[in-house]
Amino acid sequence: MSLKGKRALVTGASRGIGAAIAKALATEGADVAITYEKSAEAAEAVVAAVKASGVRAVAIQADSADVRAVQASVEKTVAELGGLDILVNNAGILRLSTVRDISLEDIDALLNVNVRAVIVASKTAIPHLGKGGRIINIGSFFADKVPGGAGLPVYALTKSALTAFSQGLARELGASDITVNVVQPGSIDTDMNPAHGPFGEVLRSITALGRYGKVEDIANIVTFLADEKAQYITGAAITVDGGANA
Ligand code: NDP
Repeated sequence: MSLKGKRALVTGASRGIGAAIAKALATEGADVAITYEKSAEAAEAVVAAVKASGVRAVAIQADSADVRAVQASVEKTVAELGGLDILVNNAGILRLSTVRDISLEDIDALLNVNVRAVIVASKTAIPHLGKGGRIINIGSFFADKVPGGAGLPVYALTKSALTAFSQGLARELGASDITVNVVQPGSIDTDMNPAHGPFGEVLRSITALGRYGKVEDIANIVTFLADEKAQYITGAAITVDGGANA
């Protein structure tokens, strides 16, 4: 229970990687708020699973594309849990398209959800984070390399933006003893990237381990970064991709 008494906000945690992060933080004793866009029922199920660990939990509907909703989700977390120690910016969307064909609507959605919301949530959280505070951003192994021609340039851009943002913010907050890191998942079996979906075979073939990862593979690293044991890690990008970029 190394996170006992800590208060966490995990964005986009009704399903997939975010749900696993919320449950893993709760297993270590943290109280957890989660956001979601549409899946109210799934979010309530995550809240119930989190509460089963004996901690407090709350689900907040907040579209990451909506600046006011993002700000309000941070403030509501602080009000409900009595403060904030750990912010995990996980909510993200994938819109596959070539640059030639991508619509302005898709460009805006990718930038607003994957990048602007991370900046706004962090900005809103900073005044609440004390010594030992944590900001953990969920990037992607596509931040480093963009294999294949499956319409990834703009999505990859949003994820590589998180690396520079995390490094710069780590410098800004270092004197306050707050760490900022980015975890870069490889292919993790979720609704966004199902292991048996259309890209499953090719994405599996580029890993060194020959398999997709599980949501827990990412949740374990996030939990470690949130722990005091990771106090000297900041400004880092930790890639968890089964060797896909090796
Ligand atoms: P999923 O699509 O499986 O789940 C996405 C989650 O984010 C859901 O809880 C969803 O809520 C929420 N969400 C989506 N859009 C919004 C929004 N506009 N506002 C608020 N919440 C939103 O994704 P994953 O779990 O696979 O991905 C999680 C993160 O990991 C993302 O940032 C993704 O880019 C990144 N990633 C994933 C990889 C993978 O292989 N799976 C690889 C590399 C990075 P709701 O249920 O309400 O829609």
